[in-house]
Amino acid sequence: MELAELIGLRPAPGAGLLVALTRRCPLSCAHCSTNSSLATTARPDSRQLLRFVDSFQPTDRPDVVLLTGGEPLLLPRLALRLTRSAQRSGTRVALLSGMFFARQGRVPRPVLATIAALDHFSASLDAHHEREVPRAAVLRALRTVLDAGTPVSVHLTGSGPDDPYLADAVAEIRRTFADRVPMLVNEVRPLGRGARLLPQPPHTHSDLAAPPCAMAAWPTIAFDGTVVACCSQRTIDRRPVPPHLRLGHIADDDWPTIRARSLDSPLLRLVRAIGPRRLHARYAPSPPAEGYCRACHGLGEQPTVTEGATREAAGRVGALLDRLTADEQRAAGPAAFVRRFGCARYADLVTLAPAEAKAGR
Ligand code: SF4
Ligand code: SF4
Repeated sequence: MELAELIGLRPAPGAGLLVALTRRCPLSCAHCSTNSSLATTARPDSRQLLRFVDSFQPTDRPDVVLLTGGEPLLLPRLALRLTRSAQRSGTRVALLSGMFFARQGRVPRPVLATIAALDHFSASLDAHHEREVPRAAVLRALRTVLDAGTPVSVHLTGSGPDDPYLADAVAEIRRTFADRVPMLVNEVRPLGRGARLLPQPPHTHSDLAAPPCAMAAWPTIAFDGTVVACCSQRTIDRRPVPPHLRLGHIADDDWPTIRARSLDSPLLRLVRAIGPRRLHARYAPSPPAEGYCRACHGLGEQPTVTEGATREAAGRVGALLDRLTADEQRAAGPAAFVRRFGCARYADLVTLAPAEAKAGR
């Protein structure tokens, strides 16, 4: 599975599931949005996770699972078991790593066995990572992964489109892999430790210009096993989770239940179709809180919003609106998606000619 296909699925409700396998990480990047370090042990219960993934059925499963952290490869055997279990039902599995193991100059055997089983492997790279893992070591490890037959991509993060780090890293990766490795380029967000680097949100939207939220399309399993409606770190970390963004818990619910809750929620349908700020402006008497996700968190506290969303989007028309919104975004393609949610200047790198795909995947 190549990066362009994975990103192309991102706007489709229920097409993916994000799993935060552990908050723990051997690195301590200054911009880390998840506040990860070796000091934390938070992670979902392994047995509950395996049971949840076992609930995928060939006729009701996510197309792709993305294993993230923290550092998911601190748990290579669990990642491998989840991968094999998901693949049995036809789901493909991708994993995003901070590449701590590359410091050793080789890919340890259990880590390589897990990576070789994946359908896609992504390496995080940015100036903060490079202070702990040299870029040359990461690129060497990626060569080993490519040789193992797993398609790879690099997720780069910079301070903005003019960051000279991004220009330099992109040029080196393109040169090293002869444009066979696609890249997803993002900008640092003011979340977790990143809030200390960026105290002010880099983007603001007027109520009507604020876009629909495609992030609400894929549920996320948080570090305590709670399943939330999106991948916003503000939502993953907030307790209690705002009721309209809490889909359930892996101790109690299976995938078909979680997927149905996401797809059938009138509020989530409209967050995906028109975005939280327009939804608030349409039905609430008072202005929304500052910020995109903060406005979304407040939606459930407004009875007029819940009533309006239920009237407008609870039935078949709401389901159709949800589907048409996703279809439109998918038709625009993965580069258009990155132009909206990532670093627009580098959006086309997501479709770079991929390395040879794994036969049969
Ligand atoms: S590698 Fe990723 S999870 Fe680990 S500290 Fe750095 S940004 Fe956070
Ligand atoms: S707008 Fe709402 S659903 Fe979308 S990412 Fe923010 S909190 Fe999540």
